[in-house]
Formats: sequence, C-alpha cells, structure tokens
Amino acid sequence: MEQRKIKTPDQRQEPKDRRHLRLFLVNLLIIVLVLFGVGLLRGDNQLVVEAAVVNLRTGPGISYNVDQQLPQGTQLTILEEKNNWYKVSLADGSKGWIANWLIGNTTASPNTNIAATVKADNTKLRKTGSSDGEVTQTLTKGTSVTITLQQDNWSQVQVDDQEGWIKSSELTITTSPTTDSTATTDSSATTASDQQTQTIYTRETSTNVRTDASVNSDIVTTLEQGIGVKVLETSGDWFKIETPDGQTGWVANWVMDYQKTSNALVTSIAEATIMLDAGHGGEDGGASTKNERYNEKDLTLSTVKKVQAALEKTGAKVLLTRDDDSSVGLVARSDMSNAQKPDVFISIHYDATEDANIATGTHTFYYYDRDQQLATIVNRHLADLPLKNNGASFNDLSVTRENTQPALLLELGYLSTDSDVSYIITDSYQQQVADAITAGLTEYFQ
Ligand SMILES: [Zn+2]
Repeated sequence: MEQRKIKTPDQRQEPKDRRHLRLFLVNLLIIVLVLFGVGLLRGDNQLVVEAAVVNLRTGPGISYNVDQQLPQGTQLTILEEKNNWYKVSLADGSKGWIANWLIGNTTASPNTNIAATVKADNTKLRKTGSSDGEVTQTLTKGTSVTITLQQDNWSQVQVDDQEGWIKSSELTITTSPTTDSTATTDSSATTASDQQTQTIYTRETSTNVRTDASVNSDIVTTLEQGIGVKVLETSGDWFKIETPDGQTGWVANWVMDYQKTSNALVTSIAEATIMLDAGHGGEDGGASTKNERYNEKDLTLSTVKKVQAALEKTGAKVLLTRDDDSSVGLVARSDMSNAQKPDVFISIHYDATEDANIATGTHTFYYYDRDQQLATIVNRHLADLPLKNNGASFNDLSVTRENTQPALLLELGYLSTDSDVSYIITDSYQQQVADAITAGLTEYFQ
C-alpha cells in the first residue's frame, strides 16, 4: 500500500527527472572528457620502458604468449588496466599487455626481474615511486635488490620480503633479468659469473648470430628455435652469446627468450624434462599380490625412483607427481603435467586380474595419436625386459587423456601372476625397467 502512494507522484514527475538526469550525464561526460584530455596532455598514460627488456604479451597474464620484447626506451601509451596489467600501444600501432606490479610480486614474470645493488649508504626505500613517498626502510651500500618494475626514473624493488621504490639512479644493475624471483641480501649471489652462465633461448627458427651487435653485420651462423645459448655479455639491445657448438657472436634481444618456450625443440635427452608418475599412493594402494605382501603403490614408487636416477644421469630434468607415500588424485596428476609442461609424462603401474595366473607381461598405453610414436619407441626398449611384451596400444586412461603433454602409461607386469611377481619385486627388474625407459627416451629425443 505504501509503495503505491509514493509511486503515483514519481510517475508523474518522471519526464522532468529524466531530463535532469540527461543534462547531468552530459555535463559529467564533458567533465570526464576534459579531465581525460588534460591527463593525455600531461602524459599520465605514457610509459617509457626503462628496464633492459619488458615482455609484451597477447593478454593480461604470464600464461599469454610473448608477442615481442620491448627494449629499453620504448615509448608506450596505456590504453586500459586489468588485473594489474596494462594494455598498451606502441608507436607503430601494435598493441599488447605488460605487467604492472603495483600489487604484490607473486605473479611477476621472472623475465622482468633484474638484480641490482644499492649504490650508497642511507638509501631510502619508499612506499611509492616519488620523493614524497613514505620511507619504510633505509638501506646500506651493497644491499641486493630485485627490480620488478621501472617507471619514471623510479624502480620498484623487492628487498627480502619487503617491496618498495628506490630512485633508479641509486641502483647498479648487476645482472640481466634472472629467473630468480626472490631478492637476496647476499651480494655475492649476484656476481658476474651468474651472468656468464645465464642461458637464453632462440624464439624463432633461423635466428641469426652475427659478428657484431648490429643487423648490418655478417651472419656467423643461424640457429633453430628453442636453442639455449650462453650469454657472455650484453650491449644495448644485443647479447654476445656462445652457441652449443662453441661459436660466439651477437643476437638481438628481441628474438630471444629468457626461458625455453613449451614448443621449443629438444634435440637430446639432456635438454628434456620428464615427469614421472608413480601410480596410486597413500590411501590408494592399487593392486596387490595374492598374499598381500606387496602393494602396487610401493612398487611403482620404488620403480619411479630408479627411473629418475637413470634419467638424471643423462642430464634430463625429472619431475615427480609424488615422491613419497601420499595420496594424489588422478586429475591432480595430469594438472601437474599441464602446468609444468614436461617434454614427456610417464605413468608407472603394475597390473592385476581378478583370477590368479591368467595374464602376464607389460603394456604400453597412449591416448592421443600424437603419442603413438613415443609409445612405439619406448615399448621397443621395454621388449628387452624378461616379461612378455604385449605391445603399445590405445587405452582410454585419465592421466594420458587429460594430459596436454606427450604421455604414456606403462603396466609393467601382473601382481596377480606368480611368475611376474618373482621379477617385479626385485631391484634388478626395476633397474631394467629404468634402463629401458631411459634408452627409449634417449632414442625419442634424438
Ligand atoms: Zn595401477
């Protein structure tokens, strides 16, 4: 009842109110436009890249591809801001996203972290990048910091766990961008030798290595995509590098990446990252022998540890979905693979049938056609094992199906079959498995 009483006069006045509202909005728009225009004139939305290099990405997040790397001095216009990222345009009209690390640093791209030291005693760390900014700490000469952003002659830095701003002129840059996202107070941690051992990667096929730091100089050699090269020194937008076969020359920083991209070519097992998945674990024991003395979860873990040791001897990097008797869900396993993007994912299992002693031997399973070649090669080496080889075949299994990476699931014998068990439980069989997988992957990556 009350609502109806109020409603009647409101409805009558509506046209007049609407007019007022429209006038108000027009005025507001004019005010906003004027303010925005002044902002433009003052250059509030202009940025100059002051770091050695900043990644321009296709979207607002580090999971987006790097479109190009912007060298120091590049002028940018900010178009919009989203989730701590700026959408910017370049002088040539191209657009992309760069990180704006105003809040926290946990999602910072390692590519933008630059190690530096404080030049003098009593250097002030401020809350904001301005001489008026509140001083939160006074730093001594030589204190190591990590620069996460440089803007208008100020550097946003991390010192231990603290974040703040220091005048860029009060810092000495000690290394090129590093992958270490944590600052350190140990100044010995950022020495010239760190820089000498830094590896960067070619982004494109046919990357030219030149005699000098200029696109007009002669070409020493060209490199395939994803080749890691050692940085010897930097000059302007150029790196002096050493190629894997020992040649030296110069490459432009805009054709190089600080980390290997997921589609980079791995040309030997020593460059590969392998994720090993010990099936089951924790509350999920998997299959067991008839006498229940041996559980699948323990045998897969001991086997995985032998495979890990054998692979690491070749120089490969090994990641594990579990390294102890913990419960890990099936989806969590493929999620780990999809997040860490190993070059190959291998899940290790031992099989069982309900009735005893009716099945024997090993199986190599893959899901996607893309993994058939991997399966064939690895299985050919598993054929050296003393158990019957049942071949490589398709199977619809979660860890291979939900995997973005090349993935296999190996069933390495039957716990329900006495003759298989007599091998499976031995160190020597598990070592043979490790050697066979290593030989298979060595061939695969050649
Ligand atoms: Zn299993």
